Amino acid sequence: MKRPFHRAVFFFFLIFFLFFSDTAFSRELVVYSARKEHLIQPVFNRYTKESGIQIKYITDKAPVLLQRLKAEADNTPADLLITVDAGNLWHADNEGLLHPVSSNILVANIPRHLRDPENKWFGLSLRARTIVYSTKRVKPEDLSTYEALADPKWKKRLVLRTSKKVYNQSLVAMLIKEHGEQKAAEIVKGWVNNLSTAPFSNDTKTMEAILAGQGDVGIVNTYYYGRLVKKTPDIPLALFWPNQASSGVHVNVSGVGVVAASKNKAQAIAFLEWLSGGAAQKLFADANMEYPVNPKVPIHPMVASWGTFKQNTINLKNAGEYQSAAIRLMDRVGYK
Ligand code: FE
Repeated sequence: MKRPFHRAVFFFFLIFFLFFSDTAFSRELVVYSARKEHLIQPVFNRYTKESGIQIKYITDKAPVLLQRLKAEADNTPADLLITVDAGNLWHADNEGLLHPVSSNILVANIPRHLRDPENKWFGLSLRARTIVYSTKRVKPEDLSTYEALADPKWKKRLVLRTSKKVYNQSLVAMLIKEHGEQKAAEIVKGWVNNLSTAPFSNDTKTMEAILAGQGDVGIVNTYYYGRLVKKTPDIPLALFWPNQASSGVHVNVSGVGVVAASKNKAQAIAFLEWLSGGAAQKLFADANMEYPVNPKVPIHPMVASWGTFKQNTINLKNAGEYQSAAIRLMDRVGYK
């Protein structure tokens, strides 16, 4: 009687061990990333070097990755989702694709407004969506706020990127959160009235239009300005930090969440915590000329040369919560 019992116990532990050695102690993580390969690979390589854990990844556009995660459901190999814009992260959570992570390290490293209040997603790098102007035709004293770009004094002088881009949807969503829908609509309508030309498909074209004299002032993400200046150091364009006496500059993040169906959550969380620390933050931000979310990490000298600014600290989950209202509003006021 004794022997079969021992054998059963032995096999139980064998199966237990085999099962968990493949899950709880996996030496590999899988990342689905809407952030481009050249921006994530140096960070992943560094982690592999430090931890021995291999990072496999696929990159694609955010909506494609969300569809894929939904379709794969419990069978997904993914452990983490990386994407740009809090609006996209909010959508992933809204679809039930993300797992809440309670971590004192993440709370200490990432400012409150740059992470989900329910800990489903966390900002990793910060980008400011700010005003850019022609140093030939605009004096910085002429500028003040996003709202003031609706003033008729900018008639036929404003250049914008298309309202189809999530960056602008998030910007307008945050305006709705701050001012209410009616006031936000007046502001955006004012922008549309001031456009010098039809909206452009990207931020670089927006700045090139200003350089070509098609307009004097625009709204862009800081790293696109950085890319342009890197290529052509003496361009007559400068960044302006708006709303410094009020709400602050509109910021957004590229960020990450642990996939709800991940089989390696403990390792995924350890990786996420590492991503919020010094070495990773520096690599992650510098690769795209962004700002680290972790305020203790030094900013790249070129990015730092653009000056310091007060940022809007309203929680970025609002970019997602008000996104459909923002899309409807922009459509209503004729922002193409
Ligand atoms: Fe971008």
